[in-house]
Amino acid sequence: MVPKLIIVTGGVMSSVGKGVTTASIGRILRARGLNVNAIKVDPYLNVDAGTMNPYQHGEVFVTYDGGEIDLDLGHYERFLDVELSRRNNITSGQIYLSVIEKERRGEYLGQTVQLIPHVTDEIKKRILDAADGFDVTLVEIGGTVGDYEQLPFLEAARQLRLELGEENTLFVHVAWVPLLPTTEEFKTKPLQHSVAELRRYGIQPDAVVARSQKPLDKAAIKKISLFANVPASAIFNSYDVDTVYRVPLVLEEQGMGDFLTRRLALRAARPDLSDWQNFVDALANPRVEVKVGMCGKYVELRDSYISIVEALRHAGAALRARPKLVWINSDEVEKRPEMLSDIDVDAMVVLPGFGKRGTEGMIECIRHARVNKIPFLGICFGMQLAVVEFSRNVLGLRGANSTELDPDTPHPVVHLAPEQLGVDKLGGTMILGNREVEIVPGTLAHRLYGASSTVERHRHRYEVNLDYLPKLQEAGLVVSGWRTDIRRVEIIELRDHPFFIATQFHPEFRSRPTKPRPVFRGLLSAALLAKGGEEGGGGDQGVRQGGG
Ligand code: GLN
Repeated sequence: MVPKLIIVTGGVMSSVGKGVTTASIGRILRARGLNVNAIKVDPYLNVDAGTMNPYQHGEVFVTYDGGEIDLDLGHYERFLDVELSRRNNITSGQIYLSVIEKERRGEYLGQTVQLIPHVTDEIKKRILDAADGFDVTLVEIGGTVGDYEQLPFLEAARQLRLELGEENTLFVHVAWVPLLPTTEEFKTKPLQHSVAELRRYGIQPDAVVARSQKPLDKAAIKKISLFANVPASAIFNSYDVDTVYRVPLVLEEQGMGDFLTRRLALRAARPDLSDWQNFVDALANPRVEVKVGMCGKYVELRDSYISIVEALRHAGAALRARPKLVWINSDEVEKRPEMLSDIDVDAMVVLPGFGKRGTEGMIECIRHARVNKIPFLGICFGMQLAVVEFSRNVLGLRGANSTELDPDTPHPVVHLAPEQLGVDKLGGTMILGNREVEIVPGTLAHRLYGASSTVERHRHRYEVNLDYLPKLQEAGLVVSGWRTDIRRVEIIELRDHPFFIATQFHPEFRSRPTKPRPVFRGLLSAALLAKGGEEGGGGDQGVRQGGG
């Protein structure tokens, strides 16, 4: 079967929502019963996003098969409701590494190894491998047209059009159209230039998605059509909306789904976006607001925790509650713990993280939530630090810590997982991706999941030290989730608290708009229940932790 590719390029500037546009195109095709796949190409030289810090690149998204990849793949998974493989993120680093390894093995013996054809062949091969077996595959080329690093990918895309033919390839160019505030006029020139630049590499877009602050007027569309050499019927406008989840509806309304299926001769069913529409309606019309404290050290950069933010939104929509996020910088709490008494939250999330900075502040946030009975969720690092907090302040183990933060702690209640001991390379060596988790009956976790096992994604090196477990359990810490393959703590909770749960895994990566993950829903339910007492509006029966 010849693969069908929709290749998405970006023009004018970055951060205008190319990832969301790609994901939205995917959604409207999925809504037609098509088996849709999505690939992100990242022109940087890192092999994967795993070793970049959040300041560089926002969140590192983790796939089921342990890939540490670009956060755009998170949008794809959420919009498409699929599980993508690590193979769906292609970077220049991977391409060059494999070409050079092949050269060293002698696979190109006798030849001069060159950008064209060797590097472009490798790119094409990876795209076609990942596209195999799907009705249609979206390929988003990261960066902005004109970037040096992007050239081999554009060249590979041009060759793919030549080789696969017009009926099997479609180029969508996404570009920003600024609105001049003085004259209230749309300026299409930057977009025109970016299309001209694209043509220099032999690519004529088949469709344009013009991103703008407000809906474009007819005159602007006419101009884009003329200068981009694209019929007006293939120009779509993605203007700013209240939530990114509305973008598929905006594009569908303009007929983009029908245009794509016709142009690629896809065998599509009638579109059904009713679930999606209901979700967007629920998101846009909450009945109540819940203030959620978000404690971590990268809080000034919201993209660092994007999957958690989205997971809370999904859970909120199911409960008709809008999570209002209150970002708490753990560095600041570390310096001034008393500030917590001025922070008014209905729930507290302690976020994932690495390294020592700000950790005492995170531990303070956990103590604050535990003592004041604020519904609490700890994720990965947040779970490890909850064990540290409990060890110090309930069990009385002074100086208890994770060996990641204090290698000489007298009480290493969290330590390096044994299989990590010999690891000296930092790229791709953590405990990564799916692991099965057994859930203990009679626990909060069991009530939330309503099942005796689940599968969740992981990204960590450290874990609860089992030597301390008997003492911790005696003091009231409940282990409600275990890894099934080896004996490892996956979920902890406290009983004498309305809702206190923490997970070693990352539940956020499996959350979907219409399928929120149980712990996020439970957290918001518990917060609503507590609020309901004062405000009389809860919306949901909530989940309360009973005796077991
Ligand atoms: N730094 C901790 C570890 O490596 C937690 C990681 C995380 O929060 N993702 O185990």
